Amino acid sequence: MFRNLSIQRKLTLIVMLASSLALLLACGSFIVYEVTRFRRAIRDEVSTVAQLIGANSTAALTFQDRRAATETLGALRGDSRILAASIYTASGELFAQHLRDARHDDFIPPRPRAAGHSFEGRALLLFQPIMLDSEQVGTIYVRSDMQEVYSRLNRYFLIVGAVMGVAALAAFLLSSRLQRLISDPILHLVQVARQVSAEKNYAVRAEKHNEDELGLLVDSFNEMLEQIQSRDVALGRHREQLEEQVVARTAELVKTNRELVVAKDRAEEVARLKSEFLANMSHEIRTPMNGVLGMTELALDTALTAEQREYLQTARISADSLLTIINDILDFSKIEAGKLALDPVEFDLEEMLSETMKTLALRADQKGLELLCHSTADVPGRVVGDAVRVRQVLVNLVGNAVKFTEQGEIVVAVKKGLTVGGEVGLHFSVCDTGIGIPPEKQKSIFEPFVQADGSTTRRYGGTGLGLAISAQLVELMGGKIWVESNPGPGSTFHFTGRFALPAGQPPETTPALPVNLRDLRVLVVDDNDTNRKILTEVLARWEMSATAASSGMAALDLIRRAAAAGRPFRLILLDAHMPEVDGFEVARQIHEDASLSQPILLMLSSTDRQVGMVRWRELGGAAYLTKPVSRADLLQAIVKAMGGATRVQPSREQPGRREGELHGLRILLAEDNQVNQRVACRMLEKKSHRVALAANGLKALEQWRREPFDLILMDMQMPEVSGFEAIRLIRAEEKANGRHIPIIALTAHAMQGDRERCLEAGADEYVTKPIRTQELFEKIDMLAGPRSALCGEVPAF
Ligand code: ADP
Repeated sequence: MFRNLSIQRKLTLIVMLASSLALLLACGSFIVYEVTRFRRAIRDEVSTVAQLIGANSTAALTFQDRRAATETLGALRGDSRILAASIYTASGELFAQHLRDARHDDFIPPRPRAAGHSFEGRALLLFQPIMLDSEQVGTIYVRSDMQEVYSRLNRYFLIVGAVMGVAALAAFLLSSRLQRLISDPILHLVQVARQVSAEKNYAVRAEKHNEDELGLLVDSFNEMLEQIQSRDVALGRHREQLEEQVVARTAELVKTNRELVVAKDRAEEVARLKSEFLANMSHEIRTPMNGVLGMTELALDTALTAEQREYLQTARISADSLLTIINDILDFSKIEAGKLALDPVEFDLEEMLSETMKTLALRADQKGLELLCHSTADVPGRVVGDAVRVRQVLVNLVGNAVKFTEQGEIVVAVKKGLTVGGEVGLHFSVCDTGIGIPPEKQKSIFEPFVQADGSTTRRYGGTGLGLAISAQLVELMGGKIWVESNPGPGSTFHFTGRFALPAGQPPETTPALPVNLRDLRVLVVDDNDTNRKILTEVLARWEMSATAASSGMAALDLIRRAAAAGRPFRLILLDAHMPEVDGFEVARQIHEDASLSQPILLMLSSTDRQVGMVRWRELGGAAYLTKPVSRADLLQAIVKAMGGATRVQPSREQPGRREGELHGLRILLAEDNQVNQRVACRMLEKKSHRVALAANGLKALEQWRREPFDLILMDMQMPEVSGFEAIRLIRAEEKANGRHIPIIALTAHAMQGDRERCLEAGADEYVTKPIRTQELFEKIDMLAGPRSALCGEVPAF
């Protein structure tokens, strides 16, 4: 309660309390002192009276004169304070007694006690011995009334009460006035503080009246207000500045934003234009390249002098590498634009490898390099993946290996990795014996436009894009690419990828072999250790009994000894190129040795098929295979040579991979470019097809309506009516009569989505320009196959 009182009340109350307490203490002490003094005075007086009575009673006691004693006591009658008095004998027996009020005759005197006094109720009790010659002859007892003392005390209380009342009033009046000295400045401060907080006006000031602590408080308060005021002003100024800044910055941001949007739109436009430009450039460059490559190929098929052939071959190689560079740049732009995507299809791994190797074999052979390919037995036959891109990576790695290797061998190996959730991991490696790559360059070569050695650029050529593209492709395949290399022993490039397994594929099994091949005694003759190892392992997989010889001489020796021992070799796989005694020489010597039961000879060579084959035929050899030889090709050749059926591995048979080729089809060629018309016409005519030309989509449509054709080759970019439109119209009309003519779309565009667009329009197949003769005919065979006669010419091994 006190705490919540106003300061004025508090001050008044404090003053009053203090003064009243002081007064109370003073009065109280005075009363206590007075009471004590009175009591002592009464006691002394009563004691004196008792001594007097005692002294006068000694004789009465000595003589047992009770009356005299009673008379002596009767003298006390004059003293109204004495209520009662008694004299006791020495033995404590009541001897005489006096009572002030005779009506109290039932008063029972107390038993005598030791000398001394005590206060009981409102009376003083006093016992004193009565002495005679230092001998106690009795005891006197006096009981005295204290009424006087209490009456006086009551008066004192009344006086003190009155004094206190007056003093409190005076204190109240005085403190009420004086407390203002303290409370007024404080209240003033409170009022100023309230005003400041209510009005937020820091300009008001408290008034100062005194130089005491309150004055100091007012000063400090004013100073504080002053500081707040100046800070407030500074703050206000700062806020204004900030607001100005925010406005300015916002305007700037809006401007930058607008500029950014414009820049973004422009960048998108540039990217779009770039893609368009790339597509157009690709089209523009591929169209004349088609002419260059096609015409060169056609010219190479005519009668030429050796010099002309060499010139044309060089021109074809240059055109090929130009095309590779264009493709690389196109791929790289696609990667940059984030448009590179895989196109997974089911494919035969072994076949893909073998075909890839065949395209590279010539280059390797020209440099005198052995190109070998080996896959472990557990590698699945068919997988689902982007075969074209796997092939691209392999071509790049093997191409590099050939480029950077002067002598020795290049081994391509495939191993099976982990199978997880219907996907198999494949590990490819390309090992060469070339110049190697210094460790510090092994990371950077996977970056675009980086080559291990700047100076090699001139010596070896190349754009430095191949590995960067390969790395991206491998990443898309869910794998990684890396290199192990040391300058000296050569390099091994590895890459992995994940491939889906086709649904319902039976576990890879060794094809059922004709019984006569089991335990067949085969001699492998090759000077290359790796190749010997690969071949013997493959033969062992087919349960043949293979022996290896590392030279022609060793082979002849083994053959003769085996024949002498009565266990001759039935089949001999001969490497064409060996130092000292080569494969042809071994064959010749076997042929001429009448003591030998003539084994079947298969030649494995990496040199030009035409020349070698002629020589081989002259020597009476069975089959002539070009290295690297795929397992399927080898087995087929062995089976055929041993006189068995060629039905082994029918699963590998693909549409369009038949041994015969289609001839004599009636083909409608829709193409606007005259050079390309000529190239395609010659190509087709060389296979005895009959070609009708149409210069645009509309003409093609009209011609198709007029004449029956077996197939249409449709260029997609043509004036007036494009290929897309023409195909759509043909397909629409076909719906009425239920027929379907095979259409192959030809396009120089190689951008992503082209294939889909062509197929969507209604084409059955898609071939990019420059047209590869082999690819085109494969597709023609595949589409028009069942409708035309097969020319039964079987290519000889
Ligand atoms: P390019 O071959 O067109 O220059 P790549 O990206 O394919 O571009 O290769 C980049 C560089 O890596 C090559 O220039 C070469 O320095 C180095 N390189 C690649 N493969 C090999 C290899 N098998 N042996 C030695 N160096 C290699």
